[in-house]
Parts: sequence; C-alpha cells; structure tokens
Amino acid sequence: VRGGRYVGGAGQKIPEGAALLIQDGLIQGFAAPGEPCQAKHTLDATGRIIIPGLVNAHTHAAMSLFRGLADDLTLAGFLSRVWPAEAASVSPEMVNWCSLLSCAEMLLSGTTAFADAYFFEEEVARAAELAGIRAVCGQGLIDLAAPDAPAGQGLSRLKRFLEGFPASTLVRPAVFPHTVYTCSPETLMAAFELAEEHKVGLFLHLAETDEEVRRCVRRHGVRPLRLLERLGVLDENCVIVHGVHLGEHETELAAERGVSLVHCPESNMKLASGIAPLPRLLRSGVRVALGTDGAASNNDLDMFGEMRTAACLHRLTGRDSGYPDAATILRLATRGGAEALGLESGVLEVGRPADLVILEPPDFLWPEESAADQVVFGCGRGDVRTVIVNGEVVVEEGRLTKIDLEEVMGRVREMGKGLR
Ligand SMILES: [Zn+2]
Repeated sequence: VRGGRYVGGAGQKIPEGAALLIQDGLIQGFAAPGEPCQAKHTLDATGRIIIPGLVNAHTHAAMSLFRGLADDLTLAGFLSRVWPAEAASVSPEMVNWCSLLSCAEMLLSGTTAFADAYFFEEEVARAAELAGIRAVCGQGLIDLAAPDAPAGQGLSRLKRFLEGFPASTLVRPAVFPHTVYTCSPETLMAAFELAEEHKVGLFLHLAETDEEVRRCVRRHGVRPLRLLERLGVLDENCVIVHGVHLGEHETELAAERGVSLVHCPESNMKLASGIAPLPRLLRSGVRVALGTDGAASNNDLDMFGEMRTAACLHRLTGRDSGYPDAATILRLATRGGAEALGLESGVLEVGRPADLVILEPPDFLWPEESAADQVVFGCGRGDVRTVIVNGEVVVEEGRLTKIDLEEVMGRVREMGKGLR
C-alpha cells in the first residue's frame, strides 16, 4: 500500500507516504517514502487515510433479518417482540444468509473483525469465512429452549459446537451465556468451565438495564457483577457486554480482575437502557471495546457512527469537551476491540495481521495534527474505499470482492416476507 496518511493504532509514527508491505496475511514492513520496493500488487492510497481495521466487539449478525421489527421499545418490550420472531424463523440457513448480509454491511463500513453472539454459530463462522472477515463466534446459551437446542440441552449443544469448530485463521469459537436472568448460576459456571477447557472467550450481556440489576438482587442477593465474582467466572477471559449499570466498586472490581467491557452506546440509547460509565471505566483501567449490538436494536452495524456517538455522549454527560478525545475513541474501536477479542490485529505494526482500512476523506480542510478528529468526527462509512483483512482485499473501491451483495439481499428479503 503506497502513499496515504496513517492515523491511529500505530505502534510507532509511520511517516506520511510510506509504503506498507504485506506478505502471508501479515504486515511485513514499511518502506520510507520514495524508497524502492517490489510487490506483486500495489494499492495507491495517495491523498487517503489509512487506519487499522475497526473491531465490532458485540453484535448478533443474523438479526439483520429483524431490523426495524421492534423499534421504539424498552429492552423488555424489544425481547417480547423479537423472541417470537426468532422462534418462527431461526434456522441454519437463516443464520447463514442473514449473517452474510451483516458481514457485507460491516466490511463496507470498515469493520475487519467482529464478535458475534447467537444460535447456530457455526453458520456465522461459515458466512464470515466466505465474506473474508475475522469473527469470534459466540455460541448462545440459555436455560429455556433455544432455536438450536431443546430446554436443558444448551450445554451439550455448546460442547458439540466447541469440539467441532474447524481450525481457521479468520474465525474462532467463543461461549455466550445470554444473561444472568436467562442462565442459572449452574449454567454460568458450566459455561465458564467449558470456555476454560477450550481456551476460548466467555462473553455475556451484563447490567444492561436497572430492571436486570433489581431482579438479580431479588433473586441472588447481589448485583450482576458480584454474582459473577461469587460464581468464580470473573477473570481476564470474561467479556462483559453493556455494563450500563455498574457502581464505582464494580468498575474497580472489573479492572482488578482484568475483565473486558464492550460499550454499545447507540443500542443503550435507543432502548433507553442508560449510559455506561465510560470515563470511569477507562480511569479504573478496564479494557474497553466498542460494539454496535445487533441490527434490530441499533439499527445499523456502523462503527463510525458508534465512535462518534461514544465520543459525543460522554463529552456531554461529563460536561467535558476534551474527553474522551478522538484518539482514545479510535483506539477503543481498533486495538481495544482486538484485545478484548484476543486478536493480534488493531495495530499497524510489523508482524501483526494485515487488517486495515483505506478512507477517502471528504475533501474539506482539516489541520494535519487533528487527524484522529477527522476520522472520528469527520468521516463516515461512505468514505470507506478499500478494506484489507488478513492481507486480502475484501472491499475494493467500495465494492465487496468475495460475495455478491445483490444475491444475499435477495435471499434475506425473501426470508423476511413472513415476518412483516
Ligand atoms: Zn447483544
């Protein structure tokens, strides 16, 4: 990749106009501007901005089918609308096609890796491989009947998923017990043990609404994070999604245990669930990532939107126009996400996976030193021109190279007919 300006996530400052060399899926090195170098294929990024690929640390890719189906409701209302729709429509085929659509949306908006949570996760893995995007596929687990397992059989279903997961550079498995109110303490502990045994991440929705916290206190006598601590499942392998209602002591506990937290501001705002204490989490040293949540509660999978929302929301609530700054937000969406997911990407350094995005910024005047502000506040998904994942060009000049979006849209539209 020749030319271009590097913004965010670099281990060292890469001079403008340097060439980035890719071989075998990895960043092989950098050549100084003007230094001759040989390559089989060259991309010219002159006049453009290069950032590490964005990481969407929480989504439900197959839920692209339910976009717009449960708008304007609280989480409880949303779930009571979505669960029957899922019971009527979720199948391996549905998960595969609808996840493909989300992979397309994510790639076209500069996301190069995502963490998913749903049922039939092997189909999400197949979709991600096909589209050429990195994915951590969290097999969903609930005590009640799920679309892919009868009541009480979720754990054996999860075990089969983990054992049968194919070795791959792009996709890896994870465990996703849905919440502390849909999984019993025994289920949560068993999920944790399986995650440990298979050396994979444990993700779960936690402290999303105050109603969840109240119910947890009523049923278990402690708040959700304390419950996880009591069950012994709170460690650096644990990724909490939302964490909207976390008290001061809880953020300290999360930091102490090395837990990661995925902040999903747009979903939390849209469902009026509350505001996660991002500045406090960062000050305590919690590893924070950003996620969109599913297309049914956001309603897009656009990490540029998520970055800008996160920055503006916390500046407003904290009455601090300087914090979080754009560089911090860009780091959460790249390196922060990769670390939470256990990936090596998110940083443009020699030896790291070649996951990067080339943006054609709108042709307005920006001072050179505010490049991160330009990306977070001035760029959007429409500015994504080229996306490289694992050294492969998967979006070229705004078009997907590996999947046919028209075909995918056609299949998903067909599936959505009975639902609306
Ligand atoms: Zn979610």
